[in-house]
Amino acid sequence: MGSKSFDNLVGALAKLPGIGPKTATRLALHIIKMPQDEVKELARAIISAKESIKNCKICGNYSDEEVCDICSNPQRDREMICVVADARDIMAIESTREYKGIYHVLGGVLSPIDGIGPEQLRIKELLNRLEGVKEIILALNPTVEGEATTLYLANLIKPLGVKVTRIAPGIPVGGELDYADPATLIKSLEGRREL
Ligand SMILES: [Zn+2]
Repeated sequence: MGSKSFDNLVGALAKLPGIGPKTATRLALHIIKMPQDEVKELARAIISAKESIKNCKICGNYSDEEVCDICSNPQRDREMICVVADARDIMAIESTREYKGIYHVLGGVLSPIDGIGPEQLRIKELLNRLEGVKEIILALNPTVEGEATTLYLANLIKPLGVKVTRIAPGIPVGGELDYADPATLIKSLEGRREL
């Protein structure tokens, strides 16, 4: 466009997931037409989110506080822990408004090729949370790595006397949990099976 600043903005936006050069250009054109105060608010929201959002020290969910809203909510059922790979999966399950238990974020799935073994995931932290827990629901994506992690965790936790279930395969193989629509996720949670 003949402006270095404009090209910089397009370049920065194009680094975001799902944003190609065309969309980045459209967004940049929109931003430069926005009122000054709205642009400042957008920039501030990005910086403030990055600075204040941390991981809950209990479950690993995104949180502004040490302990997230879900872990500190006395209404949540502490006998049920839903295990997810990533904090964004919690958002997907919460959007169904069906699940009343608490969560545990693993921080990924087992992937020997990428050097991710049990030590790299928050598995020890999960085992430390099992007291008083009646059911562990494994809600990992049905990829090869997700399946391997599901079986690994089931073999680890079942002998400890805790019921282990997995969400029903309503989600297409290789599909990502956070892209599943709420209705599919509800069916998947309701139809969970014991391992
Ligand atoms: Zn939490």
